Amino acid sequence: MHARHLLVVGGGMVAQRLVEALRDRDTAGAWRVTVLAEEPRRPYDRVALTSFFSGRSPEELALGDPALWDDPLVTLVRGDKAVAVDRAARSVTTASGRTFGYDHLVLATGSYAWVPPMEGADLPGVFVYRTLDDVAALRGYVHDLQAERSGPVRGVVLGGGLLGLEAAGALDALGALPTVLQVDTHLMSAQVDLGGGEALRRLINRIGIGVRTQAMTTRVHEHRRGGVGRVELADGTRMDAEVVVVAAGVRPRDELARDAGLTIGPRGGVVVDDTCLTDDPDVSAVGEVACIQGACIGLVAPGYTMAEITVDRLLGGVSAFPGADTATKLKLAGVDVASFGDAFARTPGALEIVWADPVAGVYKKLVLSDDARTLLGGVLVGDASAYASLRPMLGRELPGDPSAFLLPEGTGGAPDLELPDDAGVCSCNNVSAGQIRHAVTDEGCHDLGAVKACTRAGTSCGSCLPLVKKLMATELEKLGVTVSTALCEHFALSRAQLYDAVRVAGVRTFTEVVERFGTRAGGRGCDICKPAVASILATTAPAHVLDGERAAMQDTNDHVMANLQKDGSYSVVPRMAGGEVTPAGLIAIGEVARDFGLYTKITGGQRVDMFGARIDQLPLIWRRLVDAGFESGHAYGKSLRTVKSCVGSTWCRFGVQDSVALAVMLELRYRGLRSPHKIKLGVSGCARECAEARGKDVGVIATDKGWNVYVGGNGGFTPRHAKLLAEDLDTPTLVRTIDRFLLYYVRTADRLQRTAPWIEEVEGGLDGVRAVVMDDSLGIAADLDAQMARHVEDYEDEWRATLDDPEKLRRFASFVNAPDTPDPSLAYVAERGQVRPATAAERAAAERGEPVLVAGSTLEVRS
Ligand SMILES: Cc1cc2nc3c(=O)[nH]c(=O)nc-3n(C[C@H](O)[C@H](O)[C@H](O)COP(=O)(O)OP(=O)(O)OC[C@H]3O[C@@H](n4cnc5c(N)ncnc54)[C@H](O)[C@@H]3O)c2cc1C
Ligand code: SF4
Repeated sequence: MHARHLLVVGGGMVAQRLVEALRDRDTAGAWRVTVLAEEPRRPYDRVALTSFFSGRSPEELALGDPALWDDPLVTLVRGDKAVAVDRAARSVTTASGRTFGYDHLVLATGSYAWVPPMEGADLPGVFVYRTLDDVAALRGYVHDLQAERSGPVRGVVLGGGLLGLEAAGALDALGALPTVLQVDTHLMSAQVDLGGGEALRRLINRIGIGVRTQAMTTRVHEHRRGGVGRVELADGTRMDAEVVVVAAGVRPRDELARDAGLTIGPRGGVVVDDTCLTDDPDVSAVGEVACIQGACIGLVAPGYTMAEITVDRLLGGVSAFPGADTATKLKLAGVDVASFGDAFARTPGALEIVWADPVAGVYKKLVLSDDARTLLGGVLVGDASAYASLRPMLGRELPGDPSAFLLPEGTGGAPDLELPDDAGVCSCNNVSAGQIRHAVTDEGCHDLGAVKACTRAGTSCGSCLPLVKKLMATELEKLGVTVSTALCEHFALSRAQLYDAVRVAGVRTFTEVVERFGTRAGGRGCDICKPAVASILATTAPAHVLDGERAAMQDTNDHVMANLQKDGSYSVVPRMAGGEVTPAGLIAIGEVARDFGLYTKITGGQRVDMFGARIDQLPLIWRRLVDAGFESGHAYGKSLRTVKSCVGSTWCRFGVQDSVALAVMLELRYRGLRSPHKIKLGVSGCARECAEARGKDVGVIATDKGWNVYVGGNGGFTPRHAKLLAEDLDTPTLVRTIDRFLLYYVRTADRLQRTAPWIEEVEGGLDGVRAVVMDDSLGIAADLDAQMARHVEDYEDEWRATLDDPEKLRRFASFVNAPDTPDPSLAYVAERGQVRPATAAERAAAERGEPVLVAGSTLEVRS
């Protein structure tokens, strides 16, 4: 049989999917296909383009199985642009002068990055963000500038949408100082509402990226040494910038179709019907260049659907475009944003449930039908963990109280969703819950890699992976198969295995850890593995929490060494070992709190917490505290928090041991020890237990003969009393026992696992732990002892070290682009002689001129 010729113009993501689908389904070889690609390489994963900046090479970004292009029925012509279509002759001519005939033509030419008309847009240093060549050129330019200049390279990104924020993240990864200029009132205005956009701005600021909204760039000025020097905004403001990335939107590359006389949509794009045919029955258009159902869609999933439909039709099928799922999730480490369905509640009668800022600047909204049952859409900012499970429920009734889905993970509120088989899980690749279940139960796919390979779920943007993993685990459990303990998609090892591997190999950076132990997907890392690896490295290869690559791997609080509060300010907690503090120390703290207008409160861990500090005040506050002899209390870290103690035998009539001296010694010994979760200790001077030591991870209670030690006491959602590990120990044996217990936990617990569940799960339970730490049953005791000795010796106060380092201090600015401007969104009122954050009603009343005392964060309170 003579194969007909399919000619595809454009070698991008959708073209690749089309060829793959054709070769999968056209088993009779009815078609041979030629792809004309302007770019000089195989189709690559444009969605993952930004991972180029975290070390993913162009080869690693290439899509699919390379063998596809060796198929005798497939020809890929690279680096040759199609310049004309002759529909009468059914042929296409390329820039090199070659002519290709066709039986059917598919236009898959995608989009180009739109650059708004402005003077200076053609200067060296202005980039767009669409292709591998674009990002490689951007990286080269920034590196050259960094080599030439002593100061930091400043970058601006024009556009505060998904792409602009990714580009700003890329500049940040390159070590430049990025500021996003957004024309609209808020970031990601096409996907999230004003409330979400405001929460997003804070998150973006927090990771070191400046933001200006309602900022229209009108001109790029040249520097006297050549290249970009500054940008000018419509209001006349000028901002210094050595590099400009334009991410202001895309336009369909429809020029071939226009010249060939095909119908073009009112806002561009080749008009196609639901079968992806243009008004010429021999020509289809797919992907971003197609104007389908009245719009061009800038997402890959609808493009893949169009590719599948075209192949189906070419082979005699009857499929049609079902409409596009435009759900999106931002891919920027540390900034969780998702939007899906009717995010702006435009459906008549739609109801909105909003939960704003419940813990730390989180904004979540669900849009429901007028009976508050059916999910129509949602916006999740700051915590998008529910995105993967909620998105497939679009258009379906939610079980139970919808507001339960907005509660933070782990509060037990959200009911488990039993997804129906036809619910779409991976919208990029159109994979349903049923297909994933089938892969596990009938195709023998028993790990995430196998499920991905078999179904393609999670292989594009990756936002559905948590749900794919959950569905797989549930099916495996039903089959009685042990569920994988892999840390995440990027590491096949469990946290404990990875800890050992990192320790033994002596690697020191995230890049090295990924290179040595990561999976093929490892280059990028994610919000699961980055903080976990940061914590592992903190005890295997100690270094400052903000040193080099480590700074970018930390959780929100570690990032600025302070605890973020619900109004966006921070709290400051200096260490008071064992709860002991001198009068001079108390006076110093009082003076700092007074001078900076901070609210003070005694914590449950027997120290003073000062609330309401602006990010730019943190170094000034710590300068004063360090000079007064205080150090970081690590209240922000997954690490030792406090050792609480009673007054013990020194003062108390009942005390049998000096509990304060022991508590102080233990706190100074374990300060700064990073662990899978926070750790607290307690020491009581007799069995009356005034320090409540049995509620702590390690509790010590004095006896006539020495000390009893208890382990695994936890507060929180699932409180547990600590259990007895050993009795009547002398002090050196007690300390050695706690050393080993803590490090055994640090080495082997799962990520975010507290000591109580760890003891339940670790080999042998409490008896097993006792055997390891008391009897050295694993032969690792000497190693644990040596590691703790190194920890004690290497300890340095991370706030003191930060104050001595101008580079680290750079991150403590309210606005990265205006370092001297305090955050105006912080407002306080007086209450019980101190300040507290103003409520929304109080702010509104103050704005109306009503008599409410609202001030910035240094409101002075006088009695
Ligand atoms: C940084 C970035 C992040 C993104 N993130 C996401 C995301 O998270 N989720 C999502 O859904 N989408 C995302 N997208 C969008 C997604 O990449 C596109 O929707 C998708 O690539 C569209 O595929 P396509 O094949 O239609 O076009 P493209 O992938 O752009 O491919 C078109 C190809 O055709 C070539 N071409 C054009 N004209 C000619 C010609 N005349 N002759 C020969 N070749 C030609 C082009 O050079 C190009 O290689 C992102 C895009 C970028 C740039
Ligand atoms: S625990 Fe014992 S020693 Fe400590 S304060 Fe209470 S009664 Fe006194």
